[in-house]
Amino acid sequence: MNLYLPGPISSELWKRAQKRLVGGINSPVRAFRGVGGEPFFVNRAKGCKIWDVDGREYVDFVGTWGPAILGHAPQVVLDAVTETAKHGTSFGIPNPLEVEMAETICRMVPSVEKVRMTNSGTEAVLGAIRLARGFTGRDRIVKFEGCYHGHVDSLLVKAGSGALTLGQPDSAGIPAALASLTSTLPFNDLPALQALFAEKGSEISCVILEPVPANAGLYLPEAGYLEGIRKLCTDHGALLIFDEVMTGFRLAPGGAQEVFGITPDLTTLGKVIGGGLPVGAFGGRADIMDHLAPLGPVYQAGTLSGNPLALAAGLAQLKEMERINGWKLLDELGASIESSFRETLKGKPFTFHRIGSMFCLYFTEGPVLNLADARKSDTAAFARFFHDALREGIYLAPSQFEAGFLSTAHTTGDLETVAAKMACLLN
Ligand SMILES: *Cc1c(COP(=O)(O)O)cnc(C)c1O
Repeated sequence: MNLYLPGPISSELWKRAQKRLVGGINSPVRAFRGVGGEPFFVNRAKGCKIWDVDGREYVDFVGTWGPAILGHAPQVVLDAVTETAKHGTSFGIPNPLEVEMAETICRMVPSVEKVRMTNSGTEAVLGAIRLARGFTGRDRIVKFEGCYHGHVDSLLVKAGSGALTLGQPDSAGIPAALASLTSTLPFNDLPALQALFAEKGSEISCVILEPVPANAGLYLPEAGYLEGIRKLCTDHGALLIFDEVMTGFRLAPGGAQEVFGITPDLTTLGKVIGGGLPVGAFGGRADIMDHLAPLGPVYQAGTLSGNPLALAAGLAQLKEMERINGWKLLDELGASIESSFRETLKGKPFTFHRIGSMFCLYFTEGPVLNLADARKSDTAAFARFFHDALREGIYLAPSQFEAGFLSTAHTTGDLETVAAKMACLLN
């Protein structure tokens, strides 16, 4: 394969990184294992572009894995962070931004009546799962193959994202006793969930899913599927948790639950909500949330939770999205890149999926409705395409099993140029 060769400064940093950082990185997908070759090092990002330490420029479709919905380093976020930092970086006692953020989340995501802020999506999911178990007094969790919910022990069972890319959907270090309390089913298969509820319904505390799975590429729920899950949970007294760490504030102000018209009991959030700083949140029905400490018996805490810099960044980003109606713009950009792709791919053995500002090109004929379908993708062909695209100055996620992201900083002009280049590569 013709690998992309990073410049000399990146190569030198990569040598040093591998000596002192495990695998050279702090989050596994970044190591390029899914596509081969060496990653480049980035030290500047603005709008839809990133620049590596060797001065090379790329149009970015990763957007720091989702948070950069306004593009990189938007002025409103930079201003909010610098202004807030002048008054201190962390207080460890209530601050007004926490109230404003909680009110903003509840307004934008109507199923959320009360909120707890965390420092990452993983932490949000961890808290939501513990709360579901504490609230229902049941231990079993149901998840779906290929859905990724952060590196929470109970959920690293048949997981997506880096775990999938590296062939470790089931991580070592997770006690079998704990994993045995997680039931994993194929996505888009309602009869499988019906059967599980019929057998183990009284043990099931919650069903957690990405309503639009975006960590094994990107595929969509079939008509009636989410409604079916909602009904089964209600009938059996299990909580429905929508993990909207990826889709929240991206697909619509109210996330995938707004798009599909489903009301979950609990929702986990992250990524966009932090404006590029480390933040997560979970929330939902007040009667459930009130089981958290200090009101209830389920313990959850965080030294830096509700951090003023992170919340200032997130609030600035959400306000700007509302001011410019960013979701409408993103949908138009998404439609534009979709029509270019469809034109290029006509009659070829690819599957292209897009919802709002997220997209994925699978190197398989399809249909792709679940993880088993996604795995039919020719990952070697994807890797060649990835390296060819890099050479053209286009940065896609370095794995077939990740989604691409658009931001409001991409222009139709940028997308036309990129689409023309990609058309050449795919022909
Ligand atoms: C990214 C992601 C997480 C984990 O969030 P981190 O901030 O990386 O811990 C959880 N769930 C989903 C759906 C995600 O996409």
